[in-house]
Amino acid sequence: KDYDLVKIVKNSVMKVEMTAKNKSQTLEYISQEDSMPGYFDSDRIEQVILNIVSNAIKYTPEEGQIKVFLECKENQGIIRVVDNGMGIPKEDIPRLFERFYRVDKARSREMGGTGLGLSIARQIVEAHNGSIRIDSEYGEGTEVIIQLPLEEKVV
Ligand code: ATP
Ligand code: MG
Repeated sequence: KDYDLVKIVKNSVMKVEMTAKNKSQTLEYISQEDSMPGYFDSDRIEQVILNIVSNAIKYTPEEGQIKVFLECKENQGIIRVVDNGMGIPKEDIPRLFERFYRVDKARSREMGGTGLGLSIARQIVEAHNGSIRIDSEYGEGTEVIIQLPLEEKVV
């Protein structure tokens, strides 16, 4: 097995700690796992985590809370990024993974970005035979769930 998902996720969270701190947000990594070996392109999986956690930081106001959970279930690595930020209207959720799709032009202009982060994340996750989905309550918060197979050689 080539890489350890625990290391990749921990490392990605570390990289954005200061960004969260600058917004007075708490950013927690929560896992019982010591190691989760699998065949990953670690740079690309790191890019996925960075995209998702950066979104959580960006779309959550100051003092907000962001939690990154990592667990192993039936030979799948499950990463969940949960925030208590602005959330996403239900009608926008199905389109989030389209290239350049952004919720509400006014809020997006103000925030900056291109609308590519999630489409890139999905491409990478699917290239690893995994899946990614989003659950959100507008005004309450957002949860992004990524599932990655752990053992098979896929890349
Ligand atoms: P980029 O990632 O290219 O800098 P972006 O963040 O706008 O730009 P995506 O990461 O693809 O693009 O996200 C698409 C849209 O989904 C965002 O514009 C934002 O409206 C919404 N979104 C993504 N993550 C969250 C989140 N955690 N909370 C609320 N809205 C979110
Ligand atoms: Mg983004």
